[in-house]
Order: sequence, then structure tokens, then C-alpha cells
Amino acid sequence: MTQALFGVVAGNNKFGFTDCPICHRKPETLPKQEGGTLDMFLFGDTLSSREYQISGLCQECQDDLFKETDDG
Ligand SMILES: [Zn+2]
Repeated sequence: MTQALFGVVAGNNKFGFTDCPICHRKPETLPKQEGGTLDMFLFGDTLSSREYQISGLCQECQDDLFKETDDG
């Protein structure tokens, strides 16, 4: 089974962060079809990719945050 990934161009968030504001993870550098490269963050679902567009947090930091708020 293939897991779909949802990519968002780095910096495409409210604050214009191009790396994660918490862990400072850098985006993936992916080759573009027409040549050159594109810096993107990859997420496991659309919810996470939307959250990135607001907070600029990477998938791992989002997982940590939502785990904490889900505690108890
Ligand atoms: Zn992070």
C-alpha cells in the first residue's frame, strides 16, 4: 500500500517560516518536472498540511503538540 503525502512549499505559511520554528527542520528539496528544485514540507494528511500553512510547524512537531493536548 502506498501512503500519499501532501506537500506544501516551504514558506507558504502565515509567518513565512522556511524551516520549522520549533525543531528548525529544513524542507525537502525536490526536483521539479520542468527542471530546478522546489523546497517542500511533506505531511501525512491534508489536516497537517493545512496546519503548516498557519503555524509553519513540521509533521513531527505537530504530532508532539497534538499528543500533549490529547493527554488525559
Ligand atoms: Zn518541527
